[in-house]
Amino acid sequence: MSAVAIKGWCPSALRPMRSGDGLVVRIRPHGGRLAPKQAAGIAVLSERYGNGLIDLTSRGNLQIRGVSDQGHRPLIEELSRLHLLDPDAESEARRNILVSPFWSASDDTCFLAAELERGLVMGPPDLPTKFGFAVDCSTEPALAGASADIRIERSIAGELIVRADGAEHGRPVSRTEAVSVALALAEWFVDSGGAREGRGRMKAHVGAGAKLPDALRSNVKPACMIAEPRPGLYPQGAMVAAAFGQLTHAALSHLAGCSQGLRMTPWRMIVAEGLREMPHCESLVTQADDPILRVVACSGAPACCEAHCDTRALAASLASHIAADERLHVSGCAKGCAHSGTAALTLVATREGFDVIRSGSTRDTPSQRGVSAGRMIADPSVLTGAP
Ligand code: SF4
Repeated sequence: MSAVAIKGWCPSALRPMRSGDGLVVRIRPHGGRLAPKQAAGIAVLSERYGNGLIDLTSRGNLQIRGVSDQGHRPLIEELSRLHLLDPDAESEARRNILVSPFWSASDDTCFLAAELERGLVMGPPDLPTKFGFAVDCSTEPALAGASADIRIERSIAGELIVRADGAEHGRPVSRTEAVSVALALAEWFVDSGGAREGRGRMKAHVGAGAKLPDALRSNVKPACMIAEPRPGLYPQGAMVAAAFGQLTHAALSHLAGCSQGLRMTPWRMIVAEGLREMPHCESLVTQADDPILRVVACSGAPACCEAHCDTRALAASLASHIAADERLHVSGCAKGCAHSGTAALTLVATREGFDVIRSGSTRDTPSQRGVSAGRMIADPSVLTGAP
């Protein structure tokens, strides 16, 4: 058993979370990027100390799954050698930064992400564990729809702005003051009562009427966001996905071997830098119209102790019956970890079968209850509501 504290929430490398398939060890790549050696190292460590499966998270992180208690300490020692570990669990938890994968050497993204990392080592204290930052300074903003509380981004005119999530406008900043303004905004959030008992998000705080101080607000609108990316070729490289956002160690090793580096995204995809054609690897999703991208499912049974079904097996069986512009969410219980929003169809596993919710989320009232997986697979019209 590792001497490191093990909590039941918000996993990290130093504070892993226990799940049905062992410990979940979350890795936060610095600057949202892995060098090929780091990516190859994670693939090896996942096979050696875990079950060989690596989650891609909506915060642009990776999770090695299936780690034993005995394997945790040697694993984090190896992660430290790969420069993927923070000095302590507190600074690791604060370093919650999403970085746009569409940066170029000529924009400010990498500079600001590195400076923000340094600024977060010392504070501000008492930020909620889910509180995060987005650095989205390329010419095409991409992260406005991703979860973050403070955003460093571009205005319509292309200037840098810092914006509180939920606020319509941001404050223009110079390259050298952007991080200090972002940190001041985080301090204001805490001081003005946005954080309570380790919880709280900026959008809810602003939405509840909290007024930003004059020094931290202005009237500059952010630039329009690009459409949500899909697998395909981009100027930065090849964007690839994995079914349910879960890579095999072999797929990660393949990407490490054929690219100049891997850029993480909040869409559970990876940009393999420098590729001019899509990689050939069986377990990677490389086609934008692959039906598996129409379904989302939590880890389900047996990986999660709360699950009432093997969510991903069912979702994969049903994927081809979902319309290209719709989404099916299969949840192993009512918690809905994989997708908090609405979907055209949501299936929630219960002891008595599945609740079926149309155009809603796991929190909404089902239109049908107790539907079996076998019936849905045998007769997909149950899903569409067709007679
Ligand atoms: S939604 Fe329920 S079953 Fe699925 S991972 Fe979360 S807690 Fe587990």
